[in-house]
Amino acid sequence: MRKLVVGNWKSHKSLAEAHDFVVALNALLQEGDEAWIAPPAPYLASLAASPQNASTIRWVAQQVSAYGRGAHTGEFTADMLVSCGVRAALVGHSERRERYGESDDVVREKAMRSLEAGLIPIVCVGETREEREAGSAFERVEYQLKNALSALPKGEIWVAYEPVWAIGTGLTATPDQVEAMHAHLHEVLRALRSDVPPILYGGSVNPANVVELFSVPHVDGGLVGGASLELESFVQLVQAGR
Ligand code: PEP
Repeated sequence: MRKLVVGNWKSHKSLAEAHDFVVALNALLQEGDEAWIAPPAPYLASLAASPQNASTIRWVAQQVSAYGRGAHTGEFTADMLVSCGVRAALVGHSERRERYGESDDVVREKAMRSLEAGLIPIVCVGETREEREAGSAFERVEYQLKNALSALPKGEIWVAYEPVWAIGTGLTATPDQVEAMHAHLHEVLRALRSDVPPILYGGSVNPANVVELFSVPHVDGGLVGGASLELESFVQLVQAGR
């Protein structure tokens, strides 16, 4: 089955660079390919509206408000993103958990608002290095998942397992570590929802390790930071998902 490949650009690229990237990317993708990209939020409407961007590229927000419309300065709501042509939003990325107070409860609210608006929440979970070393990785990730997903209505959601120690560090979880965690998450999800969501792996995915990672059972795709910024490497990741 085709893998889901999501590029998270974080705070990189100008608007012009972003447009150039997607024009070049389109020229390299084949019919049936699916590339999901999370650019900086101010570019989303413009990128999604550009007629040059074929339907092979789908747009993702790097975050979304936990609230609906109202007096929330600086926030953008799930329905605003949908109105810009955005299809999915990351919720609970570890950088947002660490630096912007995205607690498990906030993650659940963001996932809820997303589902209500028809946006796919990509719920990110993952343990820190200390938690892995202490032997509590499974417990921590299971807790995050249950907290985020409990009481969520039906609808499409994705999960991304991103060990915090592997994000942006060049360290990748070994295939054995990924297999064990994804199998565990699959079981937890099966008990929580009748429709088991896809589980993406994230943490220094690159063209050299993607084929091995994508062959691990219950790895349904990748959430990719650094390697999504360069056209050539991102194309290789999308191709590996074919
Ligand atoms: C990420 O930002 O979600 C990520 C996994 O980054 P990187 O691929 O750079 O580790």
